[in-house]
Amino acid sequence: MSISAVKGFRDGLGPAACVSRQIEDAAAGVLRGYGFDEIRLPILERTELFARAIGETTDIVEKEMYTFEDRDGTLITLRPEGTASVVRALVEHHLDQKDPITRLYYTGPMFRHERPQKGRHRQFYQVGAELFGREDPLADAEVLACARDVLDAVGVRGARMLINSLGDGACRPAYRDALQAWGIARRDRLCKNCARRVDKNPLRLLDCKDPKCREATADAPLLKDHLCGECDDHFARVRSLLDALGVAYEVDPRLVRGLDYYVRTTFEITADGLGAVAAVGAGGRYDGLVAQLGGPKISGIGFAFGVDRLALALEAAQPGAEDRAAESLAPAVFIAVLGADAEAEALALARKLRRLGTRVELDGGRSLKSLMRRADRLGAGRVLIVGEEEVAARRGTLRDMIEKRDDKLAVDFDLDGEALLLAVGVEP
Ligand code: ATP
Ligand code: MG
Repeated sequence: MSISAVKGFRDGLGPAACVSRQIEDAAAGVLRGYGFDEIRLPILERTELFARAIGETTDIVEKEMYTFEDRDGTLITLRPEGTASVVRALVEHHLDQKDPITRLYYTGPMFRHERPQKGRHRQFYQVGAELFGREDPLADAEVLACARDVLDAVGVRGARMLINSLGDGACRPAYRDALQAWGIARRDRLCKNCARRVDKNPLRLLDCKDPKCREATADAPLLKDHLCGECDDHFARVRSLLDALGVAYEVDPRLVRGLDYYVRTTFEITADGLGAVAAVGAGGRYDGLVAQLGGPKISGIGFAFGVDRLALALEAAQPGAEDRAAESLAPAVFIAVLGADAEAEALALARKLRRLGTRVELDGGRSLKSLMRRADRLGAGRVLIVGEEEVAARRGTLRDMIEKRDDKLAVDFDLDGEALLLAVGVEP
């Protein structure tokens, strides 16, 4: 019996893999332009890192983590997100001592034990960025503009950026208490999940997806009416910078995030084409997190995009991304080898072309007809026939698969560099 992949875990194949890679490359290009350096993070961390960073009462820590005992008994977890690891690395390597301002980005798989559906997988990919050491609203505006530029570079048009301020240690506790009291007084009207979590994590009442619960909390107190002066000013300044830049956003006063560590500016990016899930990316400010993980008191702000969801949103915005990727996977040249005596020459020629950056498919050991059929199926632009006669003459016949004709001037095997590329019809 054959063995299939574990439920919720998928293989990225062909054009789909190509689209994911293009998205990651486009995002990374933008992030590097904004001064972020790449950090290559471990996949496994100590469980306590996520428990402490993300919060014990969050969905992720309560029920979504892949946690197990290492051989020495240490509890370890497959990372469900990247921020906690980046902060751990910042603290562990004292990065703030080299430069008080640090910008890091990461890409790679994350793991959450969720119910698999369109846009929701147990292994999914993120590209994310974190900026440390800046508390000023300018940093928030820059990070939000950067997130918008990632969307533009990927090609996701029409995404909505929802922003809100979650307040800080000065104003959120009083608001939290007020919301909690409000929720407890109405517990019987809340959904089961919210009726339970109002005791521990009342803010989540605001982003419950249950329609009945949404109705029950329609007139819940909102943080925007409870922000302290400093948070209010900070948020106003962020908005005015975004307005000046022309970065589109909408204020959503009910936006809270699943992770406990967010303060002040928080945001979520939604797009069409995602099915039952909504967000392609999310982020915000987490000024207390570094200290909470044993580091110095430095602020941070960042975001993460889901690569799988960006691919869905891209497909909705510009259908045919996979077809375009498939085209880019077609070999520019297909070398058809006829006869054992032509093999070494054909291989040398293919290698020369490949080292010049050309995608070459080489195949032999069967009839020309069957080789041509395969070249056609692969969408190869040209077929170069290399048989014993061609080897003797040191030139091969080139067939243009689009025009369906043989070139009069055959390819000289001793050409190299630009001349060889031109001879096989590839733009140097
Ligand atoms: P959701 O509300 O959809 O569960 P989340 O708030 O848990 O999202 P974050 O922790 O903010 O998500 O992660 C940032 C991004 O990572 C999300 O906006 C999404 O694009 C992506 N993401 C999160 N979980 C998954 C998943 N299980 N499968 C695919 N992508 C995911
Ligand atoms: Mg989630």
